[in-house]
Amino acid sequence: TFDMLVVGGGPAGAAAAVYAARKGIRTGVVAERFGGQVLDTMAIENFISVQETEGPKFAAALEQHVRAYDVDIINLQRAESLALNKGLVEIKLASGATLRSRSVVLSTGARWREINVPGEQKYRNHGVAYCPHCDGPLFKGKRTAVVGGGNSGVEAAIDLAGIVAHVTLIEFGHELRADAVLQKKLRSLPNVTVITNAQTTEITGDGKKVNGLVYQDRASGAIHSVELEGVFVQIGLVPNTEWLKGTIALSKHGEIEVDARGQTSLPGVFAAGDVTTVPFKQIIIAAGDGAKAALGAFDHLIRSSVT
Ligand code: FAD
Repeated sequence: TFDMLVVGGGPAGAAAAVYAARKGIRTGVVAERFGGQVLDTMAIENFISVQETEGPKFAAALEQHVRAYDVDIINLQRAESLALNKGLVEIKLASGATLRSRSVVLSTGARWREINVPGEQKYRNHGVAYCPHCDGPLFKGKRTAVVGGGNSGVEAAIDLAGIVAHVTLIEFGHELRADAVLQKKLRSLPNVTVITNAQTTEITGDGKKVNGLVYQDRASGAIHSVELEGVFVQIGLVPNTEWLKGTIALSKHGEIEVDARGQTSLPGVFAAGDVTTVPFKQIIIAAGDGAKAALGAFDHLIRSSVT
């Protein structure tokens, strides 16, 4: 039995594990892929005090930091369900094993929804991007598109318009779905073109990097292409909570609802990082959040009577 079991080994989970282990309690981390989204990232330039690093290097440093403590790392294992049983939290794994702990920190992260068109995978990190806060500055002075006209797409377009030369916003539906105030702001910008009722069909490139985007006008069926250097896909961030549905309170977007201490709707179960309702999905925020949830869970442990 663990005192604190962390589910997920990204920045949030790694921070939670270090904070727990430093309390001298029995700590475990179970992760499908230790490192998390950071493993798929190229340059990281916004983790304060580290001016520049690479994703895999950052992920290795996370693991090294956790391994410096007495933490049981159970890697390449997927959690499939959570239940409370006699004051303990039980996590069932895909392998069939069950882990038990007095407290749990859920930090299973999220994934960007993909448009699934030719070129998207090929040019990922070579012009295809998902995070304007992370990669916006790479496109300074260049032409970009944002695919998706919901709040995140329109926010991204407004953000990018201040950095890049030109932004083409492409929305599938016949109108933008973002809040009116964002749409008004967007339409006031001189270097933004909005195209609605358009289906992105391909991201083109020269073999090394992106050089354009092809879309179909859904009304006329006509095919158009736009020359550009970058495409930001903004059609949703999906929290990895499918396995928790019906067990724990989730927001309408599927994020785990947490309070200021990371406490979820279940006693002894805390959550941190991209998987939660905490706004702005970033490494530094997830890491801080993991530390906070571990301290929240520790506080819960010292107040509970089970030994
Ligand atoms: P994640 O990193 O998503 O980690 C989740 C962990 O949970 C993983 O170990 C995963 O394998 C595991 N997991 C998931 N489901 C299960 C399950 N059922 N059972 C067991 N384990 C499970 N942020 C920045 O601040 N700067 C950047 O430059 C930057 N660039 C990015 C570039 C890309 C391409 C991407 C995709 C994201 C980028 N981000 C960046 C965002 C950043 O990576 C995330 O905000 C951060 O990783 C979130 O950390 P997390 O620990 O909450 O979740």
